[in-house]
Amino acid sequence: MSDVLSAPLVVEFPFTRSLGPVQSAFLTGLRERTVLGVRTEDGTVLVPPVEYDPVTANEIRDLVEVAPTGTVTTWAWNPSPGRDQPLPTPFAWVLVRLDGAGTALLHVLDAPGPDAVRTGMRVRIRWAATRTGAITDIACFEPYEGEPGHCEPAPHTGEFAEPVTGIVTPARLDYVHTPGRAQSAYIKALEERRTVGERCPACRKVYVPPRGACPTCGVATAEQVEVGPRGTVTTFCIVNIKAAHTANLDIEVPYVYA
Ligand SMILES: [Zn+2]
Repeated sequence: MSDVLSAPLVVEFPFTRSLGPVQSAFLTGLRERTVLGVRTEDGTVLVPPVEYDPVTANEIRDLVEVAPTGTVTTWAWNPSPGRDQPLPTPFAWVLVRLDGAGTALLHVLDAPGPDAVRTGMRVRIRWAATRTGAITDIACFEPYEGEPGHCEPAPHTGEFAEPVTGIVTPARLDYVHTPGRAQSAYIKALEERRTVGERCPACRKVYVPPRGACPTCGVATAEQVEVGPRGTVTTFCIVNIKAAHTANLDIEVPYVYA
């Protein structure tokens, strides 16, 4: 199968979003070492908070402060942390129900090994030294055998000085891509300045790039057909905004995708 190509492929982009009133209060609260939840119409406290009641779909704004201590409700050990994960050393992914909350928050637990973790164990927040208004303001959870925090959620206005109103979340997929037989042949032909598609044995359409099967007939394609190099524009759009973090930085806007 040496004729099938494979190569590392990284898909990466910054996801910029506005927060709205509830997420803004939650993340600004973390910056101030305050964990906020929201009370639903049936009295359940959701942490992290949401803007709409999951049962009635009504807007909810009844913010409350919960404790920085809680209980692990389930967990999974991660023996080999990946790039940009919250801790560089092996850790447990945990769901933690903070004291006063009715739901659990996904985060990580700093523990020496899986034998030191159990469902029902008591933990508390370890705050990051530098906090910006992000979920990473909670550096991690750590085992805690002290007194529970205030278990009765305290009403909170959600108002802070200099609230965080937007965040940029880097998204990254880092994997090895194998294009398969048909696309490997297509890519290898490009190296020789040829464009090769495949013809469907049923409907006789030629697909470029080839997918290995006809999406209309559902049958495998194998017959290679060289096309081009001339062609006809079938549709296009004009790009007016220069995207950051792309490999196309040397192309000045406006340009055309066709
Ligand atoms: Zn077909």
